[in-house]
Amino acid sequence: MSEKIERVKTLILGSGPAGYTAAIYAARADLKPIMYTGMEPGGQLTTTTEVDNFPGYPEGIDGPTMMVQLQQQAERFGTEVRIGMATAVDFSNEVGGIHKVTIDDSIVIEAETVIISTGATAKYLNIPSEQRLRGGGVSACAVCDGFFYKGQDVAIVGGGDTAAEEASYLANICNKVTMLVRKDFMRASKAMQHRVNSLPNIDLRYNSEVDEVLGEQVVEGLRIVNNKTGEKEEIPITGFFVAIGHKPNTEIFKGQLEMDETGYLITPGKSTKTSRPGVFASGDVQDKEYRQAVTAAGTGCMAALDAERYLATIETPQEVS
Ligand SMILES: Cc1cc2nc3c(=O)[nH]c(=O)nc-3n(C[C@H](O)[C@H](O)[C@H](O)COP(=O)(O)OP(=O)(O)OC[C@H]3O[C@@H](n4cnc5c(N)ncnc54)[C@H](O)[C@@H]3O)c2cc1C
Repeated sequence: MSEKIERVKTLILGSGPAGYTAAIYAARADLKPIMYTGMEPGGQLTTTTEVDNFPGYPEGIDGPTMMVQLQQQAERFGTEVRIGMATAVDFSNEVGGIHKVTIDDSIVIEAETVIISTGATAKYLNIPSEQRLRGGGVSACAVCDGFFYKGQDVAIVGGGDTAAEEASYLANICNKVTMLVRKDFMRASKAMQHRVNSLPNIDLRYNSEVDEVLGEQVVEGLRIVNNKTGEKEEIPITGFFVAIGHKPNTEIFKGQLEMDETGYLITPGKSTKTSRPGVFASGDVQDKEYRQAVTAAGTGCMAALDAERYLATIETPQEVS
């Protein structure tokens, strides 16, 4: 490996709403941030056509355009945005220590502070018709896209708490929600199961799997299969929601930073601090609860402020009493 070493004040990993907001704040605080975009420049919102709930866009905006605008805003204040992926990290344990981050296995960045905004990836069933219709009625976010199916018939797949919560959310807006659970029971908590069962417009189907999402350009229906009897059935729907979980992009931080059992970075209390001084985390990578662009942006702002305050503390000699 041929190594090129560069020293920076603030390194930002990830170019979703959290990363760009951190960049805007860090650049305006003169931290001269360098951002590496990762394999999905712009993050998850580049996979959606319409963002209707980010404040400041009264007519809504398409995801890719919104992310280009966030990039332009970050660059306006001097953020250097680079294409590249963090492939290894060696974080210091010391206050004021230098953190080493390897980019694309070839460049080593030595950073005084690191802001991790590497997000999370929604899991899909990965059947071809589902992949083809992503953005055409297939979505992994009911809170984001449910509104577009107001008064219509939709389906959701998943049996955990998130699926149950999203099914209840959809039931409030949609005409009918068919909920498909692969097993003959739900993993969701008893309270969530009770909520689902109490909603008359949720049609709960156990032992049910998706055989095919139907439709050419947009979702028109779902062919489902009963995994006990093999019986197939087609149901007409316009929206199909996948709620089978998310995977936080934290593989490279294993053994370096504290994570919960599902791999989300832990940032205790009301801060973005991780378990290493000078390393901060913002956005979906540390939030499995809300997972929205605006909440990611909010914690991106917090991470930059936390980094700025951390640097101020280590740069100011402590008073000896
Ligand atoms: C289909 C869909 C529709 C959605 N619609 C909405 C909506 O309408 N409104 C809303 O508020 N929210 C919506 N969301 C949720 C929203 O997209 C996320 O909450 C938000 O994007 C999270 O932002 P983030 O910055 O934390 O991470 P992400 O957007 O996930 O971005 C992560 C970034 O990290 C980078 N990265 C990953 N690994 C590395 C690495 N090793 N090195 C460097 N970079 C790395 C990636 O390339 C990417 O740029 C939607 C999500 C989906 C999937």
